[in-house]
Amino acid sequence: MRINRHLATVAVIGLAACSPKENADTPTTGAEAPSVTNVTVSLETAPSSSDSASAALVWPGESGGATYILGAVEDGIEVYDAAGLTLSKTDGGEIESFDLIHGFGANSGPVLFSLDTSNSTVSAFTMNNGTLTPVQADIIQSEVLLEGMCAHKSPLDGEAYAFLLGSGGQIEQWNIFTKADGTVSAKLVRTLQLGTEPKFCVADSRSNSVYVTEEAVGVWRFDADVEAETVPELIDVKKFGHFTGEVGGLALHHTEKGQTVLFASDVETSQINLYDVTDDHRYVGSAKFSGAGSIDAVENAGSLFAGSGYLVLADEDNGEEATNFKLAKISDIASAFNFDQLTERTDEDPSGAFALVKPSAETAPVADGGDAADDPAIWVHPTDPGQSLIIGTNKQGGIYVYNLDGSVHQYVPDGRMNNVDLRYNVKVGDRAATLVVASNRTEESISIYELDEQTGKLQDIADGIQKTDMPDPYGLCLYQSPKDGSTYVFMNEKGGLVRQWQLGEGNPGKVKATAVREFEVGSTAEGCVADDDTGALFVAEEDIALWKYGAEPGDGTAREKITDPQMNHGLKDDLEGVSIYYGAGTSGYIVLSSQGNNSYALFDREAPHAYVGSFRVIANSDAGIDGSSETDGLDIISTPLGPDFPYGVFVAQDGRNISPAERQNFKLVPWEHIADKLSLEKYTGRDPRK
Ligand code: CA
Ligand code: CA
Ligand code: CA
Ligand code: CA
Ligand code: CA
Ligand code: CA
Repeated sequence: MRINRHLATVAVIGLAACSPKENADTPTTGAEAPSVTNVTVSLETAPSSSDSASAALVWPGESGGATYILGAVEDGIEVYDAAGLTLSKTDGGEIESFDLIHGFGANSGPVLFSLDTSNSTVSAFTMNNGTLTPVQADIIQSEVLLEGMCAHKSPLDGEAYAFLLGSGGQIEQWNIFTKADGTVSAKLVRTLQLGTEPKFCVADSRSNSVYVTEEAVGVWRFDADVEAETVPELIDVKKFGHFTGEVGGLALHHTEKGQTVLFASDVETSQINLYDVTDDHRYVGSAKFSGAGSIDAVENAGSLFAGSGYLVLADEDNGEEATNFKLAKISDIASAFNFDQLTERTDEDPSGAFALVKPSAETAPVADGGDAADDPAIWVHPTDPGQSLIIGTNKQGGIYVYNLDGSVHQYVPDGRMNNVDLRYNVKVGDRAATLVVASNRTEESISIYELDEQTGKLQDIADGIQKTDMPDPYGLCLYQSPKDGSTYVFMNEKGGLVRQWQLGEGNPGKVKATAVREFEVGSTAEGCVADDDTGALFVAEEDIALWKYGAEPGDGTAREKITDPQMNHGLKDDLEGVSIYYGAGTSGYIVLSSQGNNSYALFDREAPHAYVGSFRVIANSDAGIDGSSETDGLDIISTPLGPDFPYGVFVAQDGRNISPAERQNFKLVPWEHIADKLSLEKYTGRDPRK
């Protein structure tokens, strides 16, 4: 019986006393007795100058072996040579923990980031012939009382991060970067939360995750991607799992063949638990570290570190002498636990599949908290493209009009507007009106506005409440037929029903919707878009597939599958917002939100709609704009929108508006950022009014 498989299904946040007993799937009889294997320590450092040796690591040599051993003690950092003899001591304040980042800035060797718990600051050092050289002091100054830290290099965006563990259970994730003037700076990106004080952590650049020890509870895993879900996964716990008492330090080891081992210290038994990371963190067994010759055994190891061929353990009890650090060879542990038998990691490098692009602007946050921003639409100014506007829904309360710099131009608090779309030149009386149409879940209706092309403001133009007769109206898109210029509304209902209405004049100067067609998609569908040139209607059935129907009222139920998450198109459900980039003629792209992996997939606009590639929107740290994630609605346009968007813009709802944490909003990405990365068409000849 493997306890972590059961516990991993418990989604819990900020929980101090997650009693596994409350979960029906969880065994109540305790875990199997741990299998304990003895490993002999092969090296120890000289006694430290302090009684609290809090952390250690091995400084790698250029050829991969160990060159120095570093020990964090009460009042600084001790440097030992590869045989464990003391070389130097650097005053680094009250160092509780430290970690290395490889490839930081212009540094050829690793950079050490150390945490001084006396004043909650992080400083950086490089190594010079056995002496630590300060790069910069106090790069991070946290407001929080800190207990521990670990460093991370993201495989997705290549950025360096520090996870700082706060005494109140909060885990701060800071981005550390080098500014143009060469100084190192840091920015708080997001805060994760555990119920009680976390003490140790280790980050994994291969899986982009961070493991954190909650001393009194167990070991948790968070997705280390700044845009990811913040709910942790429980890896192992005290009492019902493989910890007897206090949970101590963590370390990670990647074998050359692709296995990943997580080490976690069970302080009370002086044992180190091993987990097969790739096999769902399966508990492999526990190691006890005995001495040899003059070296004594390891007791109550708090901190751990794996690297340069060694597992380094802080030894609480070094006999008659002051606390020191013991080193066991990874190769000895590997043969004792048969690392060859562990699961090899075969999944792709998370950075491999996606082009990474940066936004240049973001809108103001919406008025409501929680999941609120949803779907954007782009309006092009008739004479001054730089004055174009973004319409965006707040599905908790209304509809926004934003300027291209993201500032609010207008807010219409008319109800729970879910999706929005717009078309030009809709005949109302003897006028050609620009209509903005939204699915209104408060009134279960179609909300219809005219956008005043002089003021850029919305005005209700519906001929009374345009009832949908749908129990739960959801997605919405418009279609303007190339045959006769008729304008249609498609609305999707949560149960999978799609209904089509034709827009026409009702009472003089007012617009009404007349139902003309309906069909069933099969299950919940929201995102949709119609191609005004080819008459195709694309509907995203969230859990299943992107479908192509005909958009004309007589087109019936015939459909074709464009893509689904089983095809090798970088998709993970839900499939959400979808829009069309109009290129020359019938060329261009269909863009689809792949909500489950925070990415966007592109397909040829022309049949057979081949997969073109995928991208993610990552943080533009220089501009202080975070990336986008968990995107619902999106829109895209090829028409130039002034100097900031000379090739059009991609707009995506952002489910997690972070750094600083704010209510949801929309991110704006210049099309050339995407087109240049994926070698795509940059067409500037489309007039959306024609
Ligand atoms: Ca000992
Ligand atoms: Ca959402
Ligand atoms: Ca949805
Ligand atoms: Ca974001
Ligand atoms: Ca939505
Ligand atoms: Ca932001």
